[in-house]
Amino acid sequence: MTSIWDRANSQLRNLGVYEPGKPIEETARELGVGPEEIIKLASNENPLGPSPKAIAAMRGALESTQLYPDGGGFYLRNAVADRLGLKSENIILGNGSNEVIEFAGHAFLSRGDEVIAPQYAFICYKLIAQLFGARAIETPAVDFQADLEGMLGAITPRTKIIFIANPNNPTGTLVSQKDMDNFIARVPDEIVTVVDEAYFEFLDDPPDTLRHIRDGRNVLVPRTFSKIHGLAGLRVGYGISRPEVIEVLQKTRQPFNVNSLAQAAAVAALDDSAYLAETKRMVDAGRAFLEQEFAAMKLRFVPSAGNFVFVHVADGPAVFRKMLQRKIIVRPLLGYGLPEWIRITVGTMEQNKKCIAALKEALA
Ligand SMILES: *Cc1c(COP(=O)(O)O)cnc(C)c1O
Repeated sequence: MTSIWDRANSQLRNLGVYEPGKPIEETARELGVGPEEIIKLASNENPLGPSPKAIAAMRGALESTQLYPDGGGFYLRNAVADRLGLKSENIILGNGSNEVIEFAGHAFLSRGDEVIAPQYAFICYKLIAQLFGARAIETPAVDFQADLEGMLGAITPRTKIIFIANPNNPTGTLVSQKDMDNFIARVPDEIVTVVDEAYFEFLDDPPDTLRHIRDGRNVLVPRTFSKIHGLAGLRVGYGISRPEVIEVLQKTRQPFNVNSLAQAAAVAALDDSAYLAETKRMVDAGRAFLEQEFAAMKLRFVPSAGNFVFVHVADGPAVFRKMLQRKIIVRPLLGYGLPEWIRITVGTMEQNKKCIAALKEALA
């Protein structure tokens, strides 16, 4: 008997699966409790809910959902571009910024190509590379930080894309502006460098990666409405690059990849500065609280630049399970080769306190 796998593209056989944070509903069903009792600190979502302005905009847009969305994303691309001091030709919209990462694969990767990403980088880079039959070269991290020299040393004539998240998920590490500038200056021009800035809005002193785009380098910066803007369920993000790169990526996109509710919500969310400021204040205070508690508990952690913390608990899967019994979902990191660590999203202060109480019990 032949298997359908013999017909399928061969790279799919061994393709890993992305393991998302455990959903609230699933956890509630398993524990036999109401979903409102579950605290999810597993996917770096915004615990304040969506931006109120985004909710109002979606209400308005509901009445027009018989129509196809604007495939060109006119208002949202312009709104994003205005904010960045760029043109809409510099922006591509994605069904989440993950889709923008996939566009890069469609556009630049073929079988036998290579991509480079640091060890412990966001796992989607590796999965996208494998999806297109490319080889993912993982350069060892040093103290959980990306080794930029090591990445430069891994470049070969087959290298098509270099991925780096800044800050990185799940480790929370940040590459400084100076180090990133030196790095990008030394990457050969025919390679596309993807600098994933999903957590950009949480930074106090954000690096200006867009300068390399203004300088005409082949740099692609994905950003998202899933994190600080609280719109993860809508699936909307964008990529920033020079117009010629965006033009190439546009060829790979489905005509209506970002739905009309998401477009309306994202335009409104961009403008909701009160909500963004409140979220940042909450995350700054919550992260400081969590890190201080970890220090008091003598747990190793990596100081984080994102809305999450990466902490050493010795047996990640066991702590995950024990916290789950206490109705708190955190993220085990087995898939990252980090069985001794977990990642905890910064929640509201009330959630953070419950999380620390549960963590203490889980470790007792
Ligand atoms: C959350 C995250 C994303 C974004 O995901 P969306 O597809 O926009 O929801 C991208 N990159 C990193 C590093 C992330 O952590």
